[in-house]
Amino acid sequence: MGWLGGCVLPDRRAARQAGLRTALGGEGLDGLLVTHLPNIRYLTGFTGSAALLLVRPDEAVLVTDFRYATQAPREVGESARVEIDAASVWQRLLKQLQDRPLDTLGVESQSLTIRDAERLSGAVKGRVVPTTEMVERLRAAKDPQEVQAIRCAAALAQDALAEIIPGVGVGRSEREIAADLESALRRRGSEWHPFPTIVASGPRSALPHARTSTRVIEPGDWLLLDFGAQVDGYCADLTRTVVVGRRADERQKAVYELVSLAQRRALEHLRPGMTGREGDALARTVIAERGFGDAFGHSLGHGLGLEVHEAPRVAATAETPIPTHAVVTVEPGIYLPGWGGVRLEDDVYRGPDGPECLSDNRTELVELV
Ligand code: ZN
Ligand code: ZN
Repeated sequence: MGWLGGCVLPDRRAARQAGLRTALGGEGLDGLLVTHLPNIRYLTGFTGSAALLLVRPDEAVLVTDFRYATQAPREVGESARVEIDAASVWQRLLKQLQDRPLDTLGVESQSLTIRDAERLSGAVKGRVVPTTEMVERLRAAKDPQEVQAIRCAAALAQDALAEIIPGVGVGRSEREIAADLESALRRRGSEWHPFPTIVASGPRSALPHARTSTRVIEPGDWLLLDFGAQVDGYCADLTRTVVVGRRADERQKAVYELVSLAQRRALEHLRPGMTGREGDALARTVIAERGFGDAFGHSLGHGLGLEVHEAPRVAATAETPIPTHAVVTVEPGIYLPGWGGVRLEDDVYRGPDGPECLSDNRTELVELV
């Protein structure tokens, strides 16, 4: 059972494991060794930092260590049998596979190290088969409680921003503003910062992944804030760009309006069944038509969930269709070296009945004067 907003929600773990077993059968696999921790959390509810999960046709076994002897059974409940090994989780897992071998065991090629793959191949009888994103594909379509957690995380993040905005002004440093924002996020209930908060001012806002620095804000600067919150393990990811200390000039207004238009176009028209490339093109075309194509050098968005970057990708190189019930970011940007950059990022749920923006999408130009 999960608690959210005071109501008891259905436990989806058995259904998720059933979905995984169906997918494994489709690939001719008898089982999957799950090593990627967010996947283990998705299938069992375990939130610790060390575990291996063996999903067999008739059961799931979670192997973890002494530190989680109390926590693991409590979190995992009926969803898996828990084995604790104080010495070596890998030895315990190999013993499981030696006692009851599987003919074909899938492993997660994006997460298993070569060393562990060799250890596994050398010790078990059956075939070890690399797989790609089997659990991630299930995770890409969210159930209502996952969407609700992201909705809560987004609300929390935008409330934290609203709280600190009155304190943003000329003379304050990026790092001070990041400290204010991170404090507000934590006080309002964010479990952790899903990624390092980006606060980038003036010309530094042209660095799409700027590292927050000690630079002090000057009049007329752009200030770009990219930040997240986490609720029940689920992440929200928002970006707002504001002008500080002076009214925006004509060029700032024009660039901002173009990014906002590109974002609106994508938020309105993104739909399930489109490939990631088609989704990306919704915004990219708007920006490229005005001659700023080269200044939008990253993809339009990414899936959000237990990880801040997960499937599906909304990118020019993504040929995979966006599934119904996906939650993705929509974050076009224009970056002009030496001048500055604008990015606007909101989180959208794409269910069968049309898009629902989980964040407030309050993207009218804000001038803090
Ligand atoms: Zn972001
Ligand atoms: Zn993002």
